[in-house]
Amino acid sequence: MDSDCIFCQIVAGDIPANVVAETDDAIAFLDANPLAPGHTLVIPKEHYHRLNDVPDDVAAEVLGLVHEVVPAVEAAVDAPATTVAFNNGEEAGQEVPHVHGHIVPRSGDDGQRPIHALFEDRPGVGDEEMNEIAAAIQAER
Ligand code: 5GP
Ligand code: ZN
Repeated sequence: MDSDCIFCQIVAGDIPANVVAETDDAIAFLDANPLAPGHTLVIPKEHYHRLNDVPDDVAAEVLGLVHEVVPAVEAAVDAPATTVAFNNGEEAGQEVPHVHGHIVPRSGDDGQRPIHALFEDRPGVGDEEMNEIAAAIQAER
């Protein structure tokens, strides 16, 4: 536990949260400043900064809890869809340095846009560079 971390304090029960589901290694609770009613966060109970830091078994449990909670969130707030996303690192907008997945209920008339709307331009990557990048990712795994 990182005693400076707000999410570790939620896991410890030191600050309150609207917990909606829990497993041995993961917990889901409502976002305190929701983007939409039902906005839920899913986190590992242990403190890890980014997805990259999470051990395989814990990552599987976090994603498993996301998978379990998504339909429950949608049903609870009568949403036909959800945006599911991780801001993975400060440069990507992560503000709380304890890995967390967002589940944000969506409706066709909520006036909001898809994740692709985060980016105004596309870099126009050519076929050769695409092949090189794919090979580099394969080699790094
Ligand atoms: P990030 O920008 O790091 O991906 O998202 C952090 C999220 O945590 C934000 O949506 C914010 O509203 C939420 N949050 C920050 N502090 C608290 C808190 O004390 N309790 C809960 N439940 N959510 C929080
Ligand atoms: Zn933490």
